[in-house]
Amino acid sequence: MRGTRMLARALGVESAVVEEVREEERLGFVVRVRPRREHRGRCGRCLARCPGYDGGAGPRLWRTHDLGLEQAFIEAEAPRVTCPQHGVVVAHVPWARHGSGFTTTFEDTVAWLAVRTDKTTVSTLMRVAWRTVGAIVERVSAAMRVVRPPFENLRRIGIDEVSYRKGHRYLTVVVDHDTGRLIWASPGRDAKTLRKFFRALKKEGREKIELVSADAASWIGKVVREQCPNAVLCIDPFHVVAWATKALDEVRREMWNELRGRGETERANAMKGSRWALVKNPEDLTRKQKRKLRAIEEDNQRLFKSYLMKEQLREIFKTKGSEATYMLDAWLAWVGHSRNEPFKKVARAIKENRAGIDAALVFGLSNARLEASNTKLKLLTRMAFDFHSHAPLIALAMLKLGGLCPPLPRSR
Ligand SMILES: [Zn+2]
Repeated sequence: MRGTRMLARALGVESAVVEEVREEERLGFVVRVRPRREHRGRCGRCLARCPGYDGGAGPRLWRTHDLGLEQAFIEAEAPRVTCPQHGVVVAHVPWARHGSGFTTTFEDTVAWLAVRTDKTTVSTLMRVAWRTVGAIVERVSAAMRVVRPPFENLRRIGIDEVSYRKGHRYLTVVVDHDTGRLIWASPGRDAKTLRKFFRALKKEGREKIELVSADAASWIGKVVREQCPNAVLCIDPFHVVAWATKALDEVRREMWNELRGRGETERANAMKGSRWALVKNPEDLTRKQKRKLRAIEEDNQRLFKSYLMKEQLREIFKTKGSEATYMLDAWLAWVGHSRNEPFKKVARAIKENRAGIDAALVFGLSNARLEASNTKLKLLTRMAFDFHSHAPLIALAMLKLGGLCPPLPRSR
C-alpha cells in the first residue's frame, strides 16, 4: 500500500490510486490506476460534474516520467460523461490535460526543457519526437494562458513584424513594454492580422492602452488609431535610424559608381569593405574599421558627412526628452540645407511622422526591447524550423518570451 502511494507520487499521479504495476515488453512499466473519487465524473473540458454516459473505448495509456531507465505509462479507463455545455466527452483525469497522451508533469518538463535547451537534447532526453514536443508546447502554452493571462493590465505596448523562414513569412508580434514580455504573435503582417489582436484584447482592454510604439508602417498606425482612441502612437527610433542607415548605403553606392565612372578605380576600390565601418556603431568598430573611417574622412567628404548625419540621428534618439526634439529640429535644418538627396528623403519621412517620433522621444519609449525579443524570436524560429506550422513556434515563443513557461515540476 505504502509502496503504491510512493510510486504514484514518483510518477506525478498522486491524485490516483495505483491498482497494478506490470512490465510490458514493448512499452516498459505500465502502472494501472483509477482516479480518486473527487476527480471522477467530471467533464474533460470544463471540469463540471456531470452524469456518466458510457464506459468509453476501453483503457487508455498516458506516457509519464521514466522510472529510472525504463519508460513508464499510466493506464486507466476513459469513461465518457454528458456535459450540459460540451455534450458527450471523455471524462477528466487529474493527471493529464484533456486530449493529451502524456501526463501534465511530463508535459511541463518537456516545455521547461524546450525553453532552455536545444532540440536534440529535449527529444533525446525525454524520448519524444520533435513534432511531439511541438504539440506538447502548444498544449502547455494554451493551459498557461489561462493561469497567467498575458493581456492583463496592458498600458504600453509595442507592435512589430518579424520574418521567419528566411524572410518568406512574417509574424506580427506585440510586446508589453512594462513587463518586457511577448504577449501576442500571429502569422501575417497587415491590418487584418493586427485587428485580430485588438479583437482578442476586447473593448475594455483597448481603452486602457495609453502608448503604442511601432515602426512607421502605415498599416500599424491606421489600425492603432482606429482601435485605440486613447493611445499615443510612438514611432520607434530604431526604425528611423534604420532609414538613415539605408540612406547612407545609397550615398556609398552612388559615390562608388561615380568614382568608377570617372575611372578613379583606385579610390573606388579603397571604398570596398567600408560598409561595416560606416553602419556599425562607432563604439563597436574594430581597429581596421576605424582606419577605414579615417580614410573616408580624408578622402571622401560627402560620404563622411552622410556618416555624421546618421550618427547624429542616433545620438538624438539616445538623448531623448525635449532636448532631443530640439536636436532633431537642428538635424532637419542641417540636412535640409545639404544637397544630399537620400538624406533629404529621410528628413521628409521624419517630418511626415514627426508627431509619433516626438512622442517616442518625449516618452522615452522605444521598441528596443521588442528588437531584443525579436532577435530571440529569430533564434527560436531556427529551432522551431521543423515544426510544420507556425502554431508550435508561437507557442514556444510565448513560453520563452511571454513568461508562460511553467516551473519544473516540484521545483518550487
Ligand atoms: Zn464541459
